[in-house]
Amino acid sequence: MTRSARPERFGAFVPLDSPPALVAVDRILASRLGVDGGALWDGPDPGLGVAVLTAPTEVHVAVTERCPAGCAGCYADATPNGHEPSFAELTDRLDALRAMGVFSVAFGGGEAALRKDIGAVAAHARRIGLSPTMTTSGLGIDAEGASKLTAFAQVNVSWDGPAELYRGVRGYDGASRAEAAIRHLRAAGITVGINTVLTSTNYPHLSRIGEGAADLGAVELQLLRWKPAGRGRLDYLARRLTRAQVDSFGSELRRLAERNSMAVRIDCALVPFLAASGETSPADLARFAVMGCEAGRSLMTLDAHGGPRPCSFWDAPSDDADGTETPAEAWQTAEALLRFRDYAANAPEPCASCDYFTVCRGGCRVVAGAAGDAFRPDPECPRVQHEEARLSEAGTKSASSADDRGD
Ligand code: SF4
Ligand code: SF4
Repeated sequence: MTRSARPERFGAFVPLDSPPALVAVDRILASRLGVDGGALWDGPDPGLGVAVLTAPTEVHVAVTERCPAGCAGCYADATPNGHEPSFAELTDRLDALRAMGVFSVAFGGGEAALRKDIGAVAAHARRIGLSPTMTTSGLGIDAEGASKLTAFAQVNVSWDGPAELYRGVRGYDGASRAEAAIRHLRAAGITVGINTVLTSTNYPHLSRIGEGAADLGAVELQLLRWKPAGRGRLDYLARRLTRAQVDSFGSELRRLAERNSMAVRIDCALVPFLAASGETSPADLARFAVMGCEAGRSLMTLDAHGGPRPCSFWDAPSDDADGTETPAEAWQTAEALLRFRDYAANAPEPCASCDYFTVCRGGCRVVAGAAGDAFRPDPECPRVQHEEARLSEAGTKSASSADDRGD
């Protein structure tokens, strides 16, 4: 099956093979490319920024809940005996995703690479027109294992820095195993990226991490914010970046990108830190495809039981999911997804009037949830903190003037 354009209310998504990209085009260009928008194009064009998409463009698929590694911050709380769907269950889910117009799937877990059939699952995805990627700690990837993974468009290996930096983040010595897996994957001709979770302990060594990732031959280094989900909740406050580190994030990122030839990416949850630095304009961030919280907009997750979630870090299963709805039905009706969309459409201040809102979309709901209310602005965004301090100061002033008046 060839990958074809997908009509949307704003126009269409058009997948390109070389360079690999998904391009959003308006109705005029979409028509010129032969796309028929049908009833979707009746009525005014809502614009890409606000349109609810007919389907996610990417779905994160948990292919297992099993993992013996025991990483300190595992957002999935994976264990050696976690649930694992069968090959047939997974391929049925992939077929349903392709039928609804999804373009790419990202396999995670648990440890996805421990599935003996993971290469065959990826090959099935390819066959039906999905572009598969995978995130792994490298566990179980030797030369023979790597040779079975060639259907993947890219494999990202979690590597939080060399030796002691890795141990400081994950709680065990896994750096050399991840490095060996990267070498095996590259030898098998597979495009490899590196995922690095940022904590207060490895952040001061970002330049060393960048050099190490380039030496390992990664095509990209993706930095991720530590999420208070699963085991990551346990010592979140000690692990998260300090306020001084958040304030330096924009300039550190720029330095990292300038010094290394590989691409440097940040995950959705780090976008508020980059936005708050003001280093790069919202238009430039959009041009570089920097995307904040896309959960429920272009992104959905299927957990290991096939249940819909807004994103992989959202660890509450949907209350309304009974396991019988198709992914297409879940996209339209799952309550958690609707709440994410509603938040983005009616964001409170200071996000509503923030210049960066269209890129950032209000920061991370998972972090906000850990602070007490998932549908409040990200409490660690410096702009949000500044606004809260201003309101608190204004409240203190008005209380003290009431006191002065003897109210
Ligand atoms: S104020 Fe809101 S929209 Fe603006 S950068 Fe912070 S979290 Fe993002
Ligand atoms: S809630 Fe949004 S920003 Fe946070 S991890 Fe999920 S997709 Fe990313």
